[in-house]
Amino acid sequence: MNYFSLNKKSENVSFEAAVVKGLAPDKGLYFPESITPLSKEFIENIENYSNSEIAYEAIKQFVGDEIPENELKRIIEETLCFDFPVVPVDKNIASLELYHGPTMAFKDVGARFMARCLGYFNNKSEVKEDVTVLVATSGDTGGAVASGFLGVKGVNVVILYPSGKVSDVQEKQLTTLGQNIKALEVNGTFDDCQAMVKKAFLDSDLTDVMKLTSANSINIARWLPQMFYFFFAYKQLKDKNKKLVFSVPSGNFGNICAGMMAQKLGLPIEHFITGTNVNRVVPAYLETGEYSPKPSIQTISNAMDVGAPSNFIRIEEIHNYDLKKLRANLTGFSYTDEEATAAMGHLVKSLDYVAEPHGAIGYLALKNYLKTNTDTQGIFLETAHPVKFLDVLYPGVAEKLEIPAQIQAVIDLEKEATQITAYDELKQFLKEA
Ligand SMILES: *Cc1c(COP(=O)(O)O)cnc(C)c1O
Repeated sequence: MNYFSLNKKSENVSFEAAVVKGLAPDKGLYFPESITPLSKEFIENIENYSNSEIAYEAIKQFVGDEIPENELKRIIEETLCFDFPVVPVDKNIASLELYHGPTMAFKDVGARFMARCLGYFNNKSEVKEDVTVLVATSGDTGGAVASGFLGVKGVNVVILYPSGKVSDVQEKQLTTLGQNIKALEVNGTFDDCQAMVKKAFLDSDLTDVMKLTSANSINIARWLPQMFYFFFAYKQLKDKNKKLVFSVPSGNFGNICAGMMAQKLGLPIEHFITGTNVNRVVPAYLETGEYSPKPSIQTISNAMDVGAPSNFIRIEEIHNYDLKKLRANLTGFSYTDEEATAAMGHLVKSLDYVAEPHGAIGYLALKNYLKTNTDTQGIFLETAHPVKFLDVLYPGVAEKLEIPAQIQAVIDLEKEATQITAYDELKQFLKEA
């Protein structure tokens, strides 16, 4: 499969080149040249297939012949080492829990898949040149990438995170693994981290001497495997005759955009709903028709503190840059921290369901939509385990939570990070590594 740049000023490239480059030379995001729906028969009989078989069917056309069938199947098998349960929460409302992976964030799937693709490409190439994955994180991405890439040969990972601005659990997840994973603790904000990473990608002093790539959801190998969730949810539905809608708490809009790819592949999804925090560029666009990115505002759902969602352009592409068409497929709502906290309270007190702020926003958006769309099965995505957001859960809930084994294991490890303040220190670090 070939990929074109959405800026249309770079050459089309193979799956491998798109994964290794991350972003096209014209700074555009890569998008597949074609999307062929899966057979109706496969979708109608989806419960007869294992998760790995479903994932293979969904992704194989996007990889093409660049990874042999047996290798791709192994990569998928290793990626999907955990469950994706659909948990009933209320009438017509269920939660798709994406947080049962190694770092308890949905980003585990994309990170694990991308790491293994890079590992495969590196292993088969004649010239052994290490790839350095450079990634800025506001919390969840770093841990998933660190865990997903741990021990992958030929791939070095450097994670930048803002000092004092990620949760304790998140910090441990990125700073304790060792081996090919290095953490840089930046004396600054997430935006500073991101700016440094962007600068490095454009710095020919670095790019002339090393292969740099990113592991954010702009990378197709992190973005596309997120399609799997929507198929796994559909598989678990008891009543497949009801109209199905998904509510996705969104920041960079990679996850919801992958859902739209699943819909393109023929999965019968009636409609998408996005819930955002006060960083509401997309809901505002759906309302007014004006798209105006803004600097991000800090909230308790910090993985969605994004003022300029990088994947939105892919959503536009999927809907032919037609606002009418987009509005027919996507509804957006936004919520304040107070509203998210109240929703977490309602969920735990009335429905006996413990949610963290991102999932709570997905729930609120779904409730809102279902007010006027009653004969519908709604699923909201719960994107992280509540234990990762202990400081911002509904009062009294954190104390009662059991700490899962994979979290306990990292809490007990020693933090190792290099402190940096300026870009030159990052450059020095990369050159020496
Ligand atoms: C990354 C993340 C999101 C947002 O996902 P996007 O694909 O960026 O829209 C939501 N919730 C959690 C917990 C996340 O880590």
